[in-house]
Amino acid sequence: MTADVMVAGAGPVGLIAALTLAKAGVSVLVLEREPGLVTSSRAATIHPATLDLLDELEVAAELVAHGMVVDRMQWRDLSGTVLAEMTMAALDGLTGHPFRLHAEQAVLTRLLLGALEAHPEAVVRFGAPIETVTDTGSAVRARTASSWEQAQYLVAADGAHSTVRTSLGLSLPQSVYPTHVLRIFTRSPLDELLPGLAPVTYIRDLIQSCSLLRLPDHWRIILRLARDEPMPQRVAGLELSDLNVIDAHRYTLASGVLDTFCHGRVLFVGDAAHITSTAGGLNMNAGIHDAVDLGRTLAGVLAGPTSPASLESWSRRRRAVLIDHVVPTSEARVAGVQDGEPARLPAAVATLRAIAADGEATRAYLARASMLDTVPLAIRHT
Ligand SMILES: Cc1cc2nc3c(=O)[nH]c(=O)nc-3n(C[C@H](O)[C@H](O)[C@H](O)COP(=O)(O)OP(=O)(O)OC[C@H]3O[C@@H](n4cnc5c(N)ncnc54)[C@H](O)[C@@H]3O)c2cc1C
Repeated sequence: MTADVMVAGAGPVGLIAALTLAKAGVSVLVLEREPGLVTSSRAATIHPATLDLLDELEVAAELVAHGMVVDRMQWRDLSGTVLAEMTMAALDGLTGHPFRLHAEQAVLTRLLLGALEAHPEAVVRFGAPIETVTDTGSAVRARTASSWEQAQYLVAADGAHSTVRTSLGLSLPQSVYPTHVLRIFTRSPLDELLPGLAPVTYIRDLIQSCSLLRLPDHWRIILRLARDEPMPQRVAGLELSDLNVIDAHRYTLASGVLDTFCHGRVLFVGDAAHITSTAGGLNMNAGIHDAVDLGRTLAGVLAGPTSPASLESWSRRRRAVLIDHVVPTSEARVAGVQDGEPARLPAAVATLRAIAADGEATRAYLARASMLDTVPLAIRHT
């Protein structure tokens, strides 16, 4: 098969790119290494700006039906004293979705794959790992384990360890964070054990800071630990042994942004182009924004009215969002919960309280946290 565009990877970002292109009438071949969609638990936060984009792709309503609507954010200390609270309704008028959604990444990819089935010119091939990529100048060729494929462009959405990147001799400059992330999944009803808890609550305390996220069928407790620090016995003021823990794992994080997202006919999006801390749930959302913006731009280039130079502009635009907004916001979130926090905590809490007490400041804070200030232009609500 010769498609207009090949997409490497059927993760959330690759599938969004494919769906955006397919809806614009572009033929797409998605090549995915695994025999099916990846189902492991990863990102779970969908921001309002992303829901607006998913609405255009007609998958937002179903995703909302499968997720947990988050109507407020809260900061409290270990004693249960609420330090600050903000309601997402402050975003009314800025977005069609003035709430944040908690839904597993795997739920999103399942819905996206279903939406693609309505487009016969979009093919998703599983068990097809791309091994090498060649840009001939007039086309891109990709070799999988069993075939050669060719298209006018290749969207590289093959994740943080991108084979496409390696095949082209590119590297992602990155710095590794000194702390580990520990994620504990529990079916214990944290909002009953800690009355008044919001579906997203940040515990900020000199003894321990952590994030609590409510999903439809469990809660996640997320902490940052020194590399050699053992699993804590108490989390969020509760004995871990008293909780019904269904999973717990730790992982390292790194941060880095590719020098340019546009390499000839190969276009990098999502984790293949940038990685950040998972704090604030920004990176997958930013990848989805990359993919929608690229899909619209590339469809214009293939249809004729748009110059191929617009792909360079797309790359600069998205890279600027990462460098100027996503990475610094994510770094600031990490700084709030690791080294140096005791000295900064009182000032940080005072700032949050001042924001929460001021309607306009709350709206601006939540708009930034929701990525509404950087969402690709066409869908901005005025
Ligand atoms: C353990 C873990 C926890 C995380 N938690 C959070 C979180 O809480 N919040 C958050 O915002 N983010 C989190 N992330 C990050 C988030 O999951 C990523 O930002 C998101 O998955 C990026 O989507 P993507 O489509 O760019 O890449 P991926 O989801 O990695 O998808 C890449 C796809 O490409 C496929 N692929 C790889 N190589 C090839 C190849 N050679 N040929 C063909 N296909 C290939 C893969 O199988 C995969 O399906 C987490 C990540 C991990 C690993």
